[in-house]
Amino acid sequence: MTTLNDFSRCVAQYDPHALPVSAAQAIVRQWATPVAAIERVALRDALDRVLAADIVSPIDVPAHDNSAMDGYAFNRAALASGERSGTASVVELTVAGKALAGHPFAGRVAANQCVRVMTGACMPDDCDTVVPQELVERDSADSIAIRFAANALTAGANRRRAGEDLARGHVALRAGRIVRASDLGLLASLGIGEVSVRRRLRVAFFSTGDELRSLGEPLDAGSVYDSNRYTLFGMLRRLNVDTLDLGVVRDEPAALEAALHSAAANADVVLTSGGVSVGEADFTKQLLQTFGDVAFWSLAMRPGRPLAFGRVWSGAQPGEGRPALFFGLPGNPVAVMVTFYQIVREALLLMAGATPRPLPVIHATSRAALGKRAGRTEFQRGVAEQDAHGHWHVTPTGSQSSGVLSSMSEANCFIALGHDEGDIAAGERVSIMLFDGLI
Ligand code: AMP
Ligand code: MG
Repeated sequence: MTTLNDFSRCVAQYDPHALPVSAAQAIVRQWATPVAAIERVALRDALDRVLAADIVSPIDVPAHDNSAMDGYAFNRAALASGERSGTASVVELTVAGKALAGHPFAGRVAANQCVRVMTGACMPDDCDTVVPQELVERDSADSIAIRFAANALTAGANRRRAGEDLARGHVALRAGRIVRASDLGLLASLGIGEVSVRRRLRVAFFSTGDELRSLGEPLDAGSVYDSNRYTLFGMLRRLNVDTLDLGVVRDEPAALEAALHSAAANADVVLTSGGVSVGEADFTKQLLQTFGDVAFWSLAMRPGRPLAFGRVWSGAQPGEGRPALFFGLPGNPVAVMVTFYQIVREALLLMAGATPRPLPVIHATSRAALGKRAGRTEFQRGVAEQDAHGHWHVTPTGSQSSGVLSSMSEANCFIALGHDEGDIAAGERVSIMLFDGLI
């Protein structure tokens, strides 16, 4: 068995004491294997699920050439035959019939004729161009002659071609796609009522710490309410994974070990918070070194320095029973969120079978000076807004301490300061990652 330690050491820039974020992401990516199981679901139930196979279009959409406008369909040859009237050439045609969406015109159309067409109606045979009704003179609604200026449109105008939206036999959606609202409509337009999706990823999580109290319990001296489980629940739900909340586990090796085994037995991924630094009550580390395959990292990142990553098993020995990927997140509430988005999120998407795209980064001008140490990536919390010219500006939230969760609620973006960057002066450009769509 290749162990995580062997593997990690082969990654460029590997340094367990100050591991660059990009190196940690690269290691994690390699260990995130997609769940294999696939299920068939009805179209509506596919929303936010991950497609397990390419969707190949069984038909052309639209199925026929059709009109893009309300107007009159005719053959392009008529454009050249227009009579000169003053400086403009005027085309005159007689109306041979009409076609509505769902009610095609079945007859032939001669060179001097046209067919009244409504948007979406099949193009009659012999016709390839549509003149919109706004450009047409028609003496009265039942007059059979129409006139329009030939130079008002080009041959082939206002015709939608069969297969222009999706061509039969082409891949309409790729495996790994997380199904969105537009995709539901697109699948329906192909006549597809059921799709294959990956089974949902199962993620178990618990908090560690003797000081943690659950909601409803009184707060005695030195204790705090457990907030991490709620943040984790929210972040996981947004990714549409199944969650298994295992509560608070005390800083006792036996309790921790039992919780880890049970989490591995029931989930694909186990997330914990707290207990991964070097304090006296940080048992997660000692414990996992004996029965997991876990690398402990000190990430060159702030917040979120201590992080454990690896595998745990449901059985008593490494390699025994069911394996699960393990992330031991730091205890500080902001660090939990930052490590989740920067390290865990992509792994969960990959394991769910999705093809994750990098988070969009935009540039903004900092309204304040930002303290930043070169040699680590920082994710400060900021409030970004766009000015009247469309430029983004960002102001850091007051406290940047990793224990101050209100900074995350106040902020609408991370200010992402790269590994090599130093202090930022007010007015300098920085990269930001907006929370919209992420959190
Ligand atoms: P630790 O890494 O376990 O030493 O935790 C670091 C800090 O985060 C301590 O101040 C903990 O009290 C706090 N902390 C740990 N877990 C949680 C949690 N689940 N909810 C709120 N605060 C926590
Ligand atoms: Mg602790």
